[in-house]
Amino acid sequence: MPDAEETVDASGLLVMPGVIDPHVHIDDHVSLDTYETATSAAALGGVTTLIDFAWQSYVSEDSPWEEERSLHDGVERKRENSTEALIDFGLHGGILREDPDLFDELANLVDAGITSFKMYTTYEFGLSNGFIREVFERLRDLDAVGVAHTEDDSVCESLIAKFRAAGRTDPTWLPAARPDYAEAMAADDIARLAQETGTKYYGIHTSCRKAAEALARYQDDGSLIRGETCTHYTTLTGEVYRKLGTLPKIAPPIRTGDDNDAMFEYLRDGTLSVVSTDHVAQTRERKENSEWWEDPFGANGLQTSLPVFHDEAVNERGSSYPFLVRVLCANPAQTFGLPNKGTLEPGTDADIVLFDPNETYTISARDNASVADYTIYEGREVTGKVTRTYLRGELVATDGEVVGKPGYGEFVRRERPVWGED
Ligand SMILES: [Zn+2]
Repeated sequence: MPDAEETVDASGLLVMPGVIDPHVHIDDHVSLDTYETATSAAALGGVTTLIDFAWQSYVSEDSPWEEERSLHDGVERKRENSTEALIDFGLHGGILREDPDLFDELANLVDAGITSFKMYTTYEFGLSNGFIREVFERLRDLDAVGVAHTEDDSVCESLIAKFRAAGRTDPTWLPAARPDYAEAMAADDIARLAQETGTKYYGIHTSCRKAAEALARYQDDGSLIRGETCTHYTTLTGEVYRKLGTLPKIAPPIRTGDDNDAMFEYLRDGTLSVVSTDHVAQTRERKENSEWWEDPFGANGLQTSLPVFHDEAVNERGSSYPFLVRVLCANPAQTFGLPNKGTLEPGTDADIVLFDPNETYTISARDNASVADYTIYEGREVTGKVTRTYLRGELVATDGEVVGKPGYGEFVRRERPVWGED
């Protein structure tokens, strides 16, 4: 090693790998952040690598696109929009249409480091189980990972229509309109398809006990089914809709205290292995001007996830620091083919966070680097604060100030992930 030019005194601080957030939305039809604003929030939050989505465009009345374009095209658009990134990032492919032309694209995308593909079972761009099965077979052959947002669309749509007709305009109806069993039904279907086709499958943003139970049911082979939850599902309850109205509108919705407990039970037994943010930047203006059923989805979390999850998991529930590092750093890196990330092993990328576990502060949207002008954790006092974030050895954030350079963050070509005895 060369002589150090600078010595940093980390006594009393935790020295941990940078957080890997594999579920983030930036600069597209669902999120207002640019790469510069989202990755600034990430750097302040101790996140050194994120995985965003490149979308296959679709056309409809509500679609942001004018024409149907390929997934390759979506990747190019994201690469062009990401030149101002301050931290490293990868991309999942997002499949929004049942177009068999897609199948000819997949091998090239996997070779280009896009080794996971997301599909939805709900919304106007949701896919049928039959098409998802077709995609899974191809992903299996390419050693790639299938990712799915699982909620049963017709159950959710019929409940929303029923509540609308009954004039139930209070946002506290949100969780009942997208119920836990609708999530569990679709989670069960897709996990079963993955198991039957022998495909690596990652169930994203698991929000409730029933959906986690569904994933657990298909993990008896011990290798190919994995699951994620998000920080908000471990610590917030539906009470947040009473307090903040439609601002925390997300899907699946925020649920109950028992579901918070279930997220920890299933994280501890490994059914769920990753905690992400599902970061989406929206503004109050866009969120608060319509009824809850018309409101855009999404909540921002890149800047606050580590301190909030640390406070909930370690301070409130007695989880260990190795647990924290597993679910925030090591597991997401391993799950998505990032061998140089999520670890402090010599020879890896030197993505390092210094974290003061004893400093207490109050979360406020005034500190947001994201263009989002609110936070679902507004006013929450947490103990534990990110003090420094390093990416590939360079300081990118220190004491609440972003010091990294836009453009220093690089696209990471991910490897084909190896899971279990795969
Ligand atoms: Zn998402």
